Amino acid sequence: MDDATDIRKAIRQHAEMERFFTGDFTVRGAAPAQAATPAQGSTGPAAADDGADPAAVLAAVAEEVARCTLCEELAATRNHVVPGEGSPRARLVFVGEAPGADEDAQGRPFVGRAGQLLTKIITAMGLQRSDVFICNTLKCRPPGNRDPRPEEKANCRPFLRRQLEAIRPEIIVGLGAHAANGLLEVNLPIGRLRGRFHEYSFSPERPPVKLMATYHPAYLLRSYSPENRRRVWEDMQMVMTELGLPSPEQK
Ligand code: SF4
Repeated sequence: MDDATDIRKAIRQHAEMERFFTGDFTVRGAAPAQAATPAQGSTGPAAADDGADPAAVLAAVAEEVARCTLCEELAATRNHVVPGEGSPRARLVFVGEAPGADEDAQGRPFVGRAGQLLTKIITAMGLQRSDVFICNTLKCRPPGNRDPRPEEKANCRPFLRRQLEAIRPEIIVGLGAHAANGLLEVNLPIGRLRGRFHEYSFSPERPPVKLMATYHPAYLLRSYSPENRRRVWEDMQMVMTELGLPSPEQK
């Protein structure tokens, strides 16, 4: 397959997914060269200041998570830890709340129905899961999918922080109120957080990165209205524009 065919295929796939997802948008003026530009391998923000290889840091975090028993109940009831997966040099990181039953069974993030919807959203953005990094604020499943407890969030926060510091993405997307509030250390409804960029600070010495909050795919599945889909897509369009990816325009 030649380059032109690849680009046409990418644009067609992008448009098809976008129609599926929003129903009311069309791609206009998408730049073909950009359409084929993956986020993986980007020369975006450099790796961590200490020069550590992001892949090595992520592997080390995953090993520590696998042995972690800080949250007694979660450690006793989990089948697998779910540290996260994707590109160690991703320009874009998605952070959800906590693993569910499917994720706990497989040890991989966002693999259930909500995960399939997230994959469609990523595809609609012209990317693949392997281009981005996907993880959760909590690395173990709370039994019965109960809300994570404050002490569990506090226990697990350093793992997420180390992952984000190693990857140093340009944009973090917080999926749902729990993830967004946890990252921003606020307590606001998702409706007030979404639709604009916030700043996520690694440390006072490092410049913050942009953080977009949006609805969790599981909520979207429960409330699969055109309005909610449109809101998520609007949030993702802002992310795409910020990353320099072709951004569809509203009719
Ligand atoms: S949720 Fe995080 S801190 Fe708690 S046991 Fe699992 S890995 Fe450890």
